[in-house]
Amino acid sequence: MPDSATPLRSKPPTPFMAQYLGIKAQLGDALLFFRMGDFYELFFDDAKDAAAILDITLTARGEHEGEPIPMAGVPYHAAEAYLARLIKSGRRVAVCEQTESPEEAKKRGSKAVVNREVVRIITPGTLTEDSLLPSRGGQALAAVAFTAAGDAGLAVADVATGRFEVLPTTRDDVLAELSARPIGEVLLPDSEAGAAFAGEIEQVLGCAVTLRPKRLASADRGEAALKDVFDVSAIDALGDFSRLECSAISVLIDYLRLTQAGEEARLDRPARAVVQGELTIDPTTRASLEIHQTLSGERSGSLIDTVDRTLTPAGARLLAARLSRPSCQEDDIAARHDAVAWALEARDLREALRLHLSGVPDLARARTRLVLGRGGPRDLSAIANALRLGEAIAAAIARSMAPPALIETVLRDLTLSGRPDLSNLVADLQRALVDSPPLLARDGGFIAPGWDAALDEIRALKDDSRKVIAGLETQYADKVGISGLKIKYNNMLGYFIEVPARHGEAMMRAPLSETFIHRQTLAKVVRFSTEELAGLAGRISRADEAALAMEAEAFATFSRRVEAQSDALSAAADALAEIDLALAFAEWADDVSAVRPILVDAPVFEAERLRHPVVEAALRKAGQGFTANDLKLDADGAQSSRLLLITGPNMAGKSTYLRAGALAAILAQAGSFVPAASLTLGLVDRVFSRVGAADDLARGRSTFMVEMVETATILSQATPRSFVILDEVGRGTSTFDGLAIAWSSVEHLHDVNGCRALFATHYHELTDVAARLKSASNASLRAREWNDELIFLHEVHAGPADQSYGVQVAKLAGLPKRAVSRARQILNQLEAGGTAGDLPLFAATPTDMAIADEGPGPLEQALEEVDPDALSPRDALDTLYRLKDIQGGSHSG
Ligand code: ATP
Repeated sequence: MPDSATPLRSKPPTPFMAQYLGIKAQLGDALLFFRMGDFYELFFDDAKDAAAILDITLTARGEHEGEPIPMAGVPYHAAEAYLARLIKSGRRVAVCEQTESPEEAKKRGSKAVVNREVVRIITPGTLTEDSLLPSRGGQALAAVAFTAAGDAGLAVADVATGRFEVLPTTRDDVLAELSARPIGEVLLPDSEAGAAFAGEIEQVLGCAVTLRPKRLASADRGEAALKDVFDVSAIDALGDFSRLECSAISVLIDYLRLTQAGEEARLDRPARAVVQGELTIDPTTRASLEIHQTLSGERSGSLIDTVDRTLTPAGARLLAARLSRPSCQEDDIAARHDAVAWALEARDLREALRLHLSGVPDLARARTRLVLGRGGPRDLSAIANALRLGEAIAAAIARSMAPPALIETVLRDLTLSGRPDLSNLVADLQRALVDSPPLLARDGGFIAPGWDAALDEIRALKDDSRKVIAGLETQYADKVGISGLKIKYNNMLGYFIEVPARHGEAMMRAPLSETFIHRQTLAKVVRFSTEELAGLAGRISRADEAALAMEAEAFATFSRRVEAQSDALSAAADALAEIDLALAFAEWADDVSAVRPILVDAPVFEAERLRHPVVEAALRKAGQGFTANDLKLDADGAQSSRLLLITGPNMAGKSTYLRAGALAAILAQAGSFVPAASLTLGLVDRVFSRVGAADDLARGRSTFMVEMVETATILSQATPRSFVILDEVGRGTSTFDGLAIAWSSVEHLHDVNGCRALFATHYHELTDVAARLKSASNASLRAREWNDELIFLHEVHAGPADQSYGVQVAKLAGLPKRAVSRARQILNQLEAGGTAGDLPLFAATPTDMAIADEGPGPLEQALEEVDPDALSPRDALDTLYRLKDIQGGSHSG
């Protein structure tokens, strides 16, 4: 009986469609790029989706179940640009190639369909192509395994560089750990809990999330996968991983195999992230401090954008990693500061080294592409160039004054002498490759003359044949007496003889037709061939094939040699990134007069003349100066207060002051100098920041709910080693509720958390609270009124602020005059009432302040009547005079 869902009239799919549908059925929601000759074609819904995303034409091809099949295609040679857009839009793409030629298929029968196989599924977390990846950032793949009890394991692989990291964590900290890394895609189990977590991750991190079968998250499978990939008999050789970490590893490696069509994952040995050794920054803090991007999502205006002076993509990625996960280990940080201090002092050397660095290609990514079989000649040349420049850099440093330990260590990884395999590889690559090799190996032309005698011989043969062909042209022209006779080449006909159409006839007649074989007649020309020409063309094409095969062989040999040096190359890439970063930090310190932080063992933060690097840079661009301020906190309360309550007018610089403190701690522990005259810092274990309020309606949270969730996190997690900045807590609710919450938060931070904290508020009532608490004090930013104008001094002083100047700021911001003067009037009334009981929301609205509706004034009325589009320039000028007159009249009246 026919299936009721299948219309009776439908014909079975053609063999071609059957092949397509069979492959598509295994792919889920990935778009299928189906190779057909010079195009990748997409069918059905894939075609519709791709046409919409890529803005390409949607056509139709044949029929399926009685309906035309929607089809869209992109040319094979331009596929990467289209892939980039599809991946960016969050899609996964399965690339299906022809695995035999049409001729081979025909041998199996005239109707046989060319064999095709999916060779790779391209997803946001498994990219390796430079054109698809951000060059200065990464796009790693992460797998998360977690239990109902709240434990979790995380495996993170940067497929493009091979870096592989595994760490134990908790369900609560997964988001913080993920946000500390440049993640492109997260894998989660397809359980209910996994799906719920997926929504949260998509919201907070904005990256792709892929649900994978729950059964894959198995520790035993993970152990087996580790043994296979790293060829070890026991995983102890790699590290001591928990069951949950192994489960995450299992999901990750399975996905790499799936997306690489069964190829084995190619990763460096897993490194165990030292969680305790890092300064933790949760996603909210990261976002609010605008470390990697501004709140509006741009890099420009972020901390990293302001301090980045790196010259290589790998250096930029290292900077991003350091700012994402600053260290908590004093030795590490001090070693990094030593390197920056050294680079700052050795200015000439720094300039020379940076000149070398600016030419260093992306060694890590080139290496991985070659190892994965996706590389090309340009990657080989990148390896040679990077190592050659690396050696020059090492030599220059070795000649200079004694480098610090960190630099000394990495230099070893750049030195080629004593490492014959590596130095021979560089020397051979330099000899073997042409100056600017092509991206892909398939068209040849990258092996330089002199490298392979057999290849040179074949190329000479080809050149000889070409010369003979050139000679034939004159010979034939003489023979037939046609000066316009030419020998040309195209892809369709190969070499051919072309004569103007009027001579065609004669050539097709004996005796010429005995030599010249007719191939093609076009409107203006007729084309011929000869046996001699065909023979020469054959020789050329056989030589071409042989040359291509020789170059392919040379490429494969070099790729194997690269693979054999994989670890050394990875170490050299890391060394170059480390040097680039130390020099870049020094360059920035030089530019902005940043100083080396002094690290101490007590929980203090003592900065003199501290500046906010991003605000300062923005002001400098506008030709304005930044006012530096001191900031002193001590969690033990021995030197100064541990909590500073900051009041002051709107726009006075409170937020800027708070953030400057948090950013200085992050910069210092990332290994950078800090923009201040001095900073004494007791290492910070966690930085927390809650600044401003924003709705998170997509997650079903109102402004106030978001604020409270964030405040709750801080009050429950901050330790005496933490650094907290809180800006305007309690603003999202009624005045009394807000004040009460802000009040209790200040007390909690002071009494329970005992951390270093900066608390900015407009609740002046809190200044009394701060005055009463033992280790808290007040500070304020002042403004001055001058000629009815408000002047912000941006200077921080001890003690509370005198007033808010909110109404003046509203005036500055352009609130209508009428509303401003009304606000002044209300404010005076309220201030006369004095006590908190008269605060606006809960006091009865004073009836004597009812706002009389005076209607529009004469000026507004006149303006209302003006239609700018209907005015001539002369009329416009007259109107302007008239309006000025009315204004003068109403003022004087
Ligand atoms: P609000 O209470 O309205 O949130 P605020 O007191 O937090 O205001 P900020 O947002 O820190 O004020 O600063 C407002 C602007 O003042 C900044 O964008 C900057 O242009 C300028 N500014 C702040 N601090 C300084 C400073 N120390 N030196 C120079 N300009 C500053």
